[in-house]
Amino acid sequence: MISALMPTFKRADLAFERGEGAWLYTADGRRFLDFGAGIAVSSLGHGHPKLVAAIAEQAAKVMHVSNLYRIPQAEALAQKLVAHSFADSVFFCNSGAEANEGMVKMIRRDQAQRGYPERTRIICCDGAFHGRTLAMLAATGNPAYLDGFGKPVEGFDHVPFNNLNALRDAITPETAGIMVEPIQGESGIKQADPHFIHGLRQACDEFGLVLAFDEVQTGVGRTGKLFAHEWYDVKPDIISVAKGIGGGFPLGAILATEEVASHMTPGTHGTTFGGNPLACAAGNAVLDEVLAPGFLDHVRKTGAAFGEMLTELTRQHPQIFEQVRGRGLMWGLRCKPPVADVLTAVLHEGLLCVSAGDNVLRLVPPLIVTEEECRIACDAISRAATKLTQKMTELSA
Ligand SMILES: *Cc1c(COP(=O)(O)O)cnc(C)c1O
Repeated sequence: MISALMPTFKRADLAFERGEGAWLYTADGRRFLDFGAGIAVSSLGHGHPKLVAAIAEQAAKVMHVSNLYRIPQAEALAQKLVAHSFADSVFFCNSGAEANEGMVKMIRRDQAQRGYPERTRIICCDGAFHGRTLAMLAATGNPAYLDGFGKPVEGFDHVPFNNLNALRDAITPETAGIMVEPIQGESGIKQADPHFIHGLRQACDEFGLVLAFDEVQTGVGRTGKLFAHEWYDVKPDIISVAKGIGGGFPLGAILATEEVASHMTPGTHGTTFGGNPLACAAGNAVLDEVLAPGFLDHVRKTGAAFGEMLTELTRQHPQIFEQVRGRGLMWGLRCKPPVADVLTAVLHEGLLCVSAGDNVLRLVPPLIVTEEECRIACDAISRAATKLTQKMTELSA
């Protein structure tokens, strides 16, 4: 018989009762070091006192009023995002897929209002992940996700990631914009080349296209800058953000330049929940922490140390790991045995991680993680790798 909870996920048989910092505890008292952070969401870790207080206080005052009224919490959060980014204006929603949907609408609207209504197509990259709504399935383009859901929504073209010539060749009179992840997360922590990113900006300027970055996973400090595109010293026209921005409370955002945002007049886009007082109280608490002096320095410093530990780990276990990639606190270990086996083995050592495409073990701890906790995680991975190597040797003997 089917479970009451629709079985769309293959879940580990673990339920957590509470969390503290980078640690999660089961009801029977076992504790796990959380280097998955709810898929790069719990940016301040679990039970962060300021985030907890902000949510509790706002919930007691007023949770929701709709966007028919002013929302001071949303105005303040938008103001902070604008002050610390390329953007001039922000739209709030509830998830990554929803942010990307809105972003694509804004790209199309910008072209239409500038006199190019025929420009509706978005160029995306192979290996992208943009979400699970009908249109974002098409933008993602992964055949496994599209199977059984009918003809993909029109309007998305795909080119190989990091291939500028292919991208320029794909531009047609119907192209409206380009949407890429600065670091592809779901497909295995693959970083965009600086040459590729700069070439995207150049192509967009040359052909009058809108440059959009999907920063749903890379945004809000994950890579050691507030947004990952800052590493490339390139100014986008629009970006999407979600995952880490609410620290565990569902919140998404679209950040745009005035040029793009100015076409989004009353009635052009909407949401019932998006940017409500409760969600924005969470967002403000997260952003205040991430923007506090020293926070991003901590992410960069801890991330660099973690990267070195992972490189050393790969040297020690050549039969299990073959490559380390990432930056900040967004890392991937490319595995030789199936990543699912490695994930299970590290879980047995008390460490939670997430798998990604390309047989990669994804390590995306809370941004407040300490170097000592990174060391504990690497020790757990090392123990798991030793056991896996033993098992593999026994099997082949
Ligand atoms: C997770 C993710 C999404 C989808 O976000 P949801 O909140 O699950 O809809 C989109 N883009 C990227 C890059 C992501 O990592």
